Amino acid sequence: TMSAHDPDCIFCKIIAGQIPSRKVHEDDELYAFHDIAPWAPVHFLIVPKQHIPSMAQLTVEHERLLGRIMVLAPKLAMEQGCNPYPEGGFRIVCNTGTEGGQEVHHLHVHVMGGPRPWARG
Ligand code: 5GP
Ligand code: ZN
Repeated sequence: TMSAHDPDCIFCKIIAGQIPSRKVHEDDELYAFHDIAPWAPVHFLIVPKQHIPSMAQLTVEHERLLGRIMVLAPKLAMEQGCNPYPEGGFRIVCNTGTEGGQEVHHLHVHVMGGPRPWARG
């Protein structure tokens, strides 16, 4: 089972304001903040306030929440300086599990964009 908040989780502490962050967005369910080590001109994270460790724990009950993240991402990306589609745009990454490159085990979506070059592929 999972609790709403994990006292040992760095992103739960950021959401609670116990660790400072550069906030991009907040509402009742979601929090977004700039990545501390950006690898694109625009690089922020969108996280659910509820402590969900990763995509591996998702159920149908989370479908609306994940839909909200996906609808919020382009809005925030444009507000943060990503250029308009189609010449501009952004990339979403959701690392899941150690083999998926996940280091912080609180579900988060990376939103990365801005003028290239900053990534391959
Ligand atoms: P992951 O590899 O788990 O998908 O990525 C975790 C991301 O969280 C990394 O890009 C890392 O830079 C970012 N991060 C880790 N700790 C902090 C922090 O204390 N503050 C902020 N703003 N970002 C963090
Ligand atoms: Zn957490």
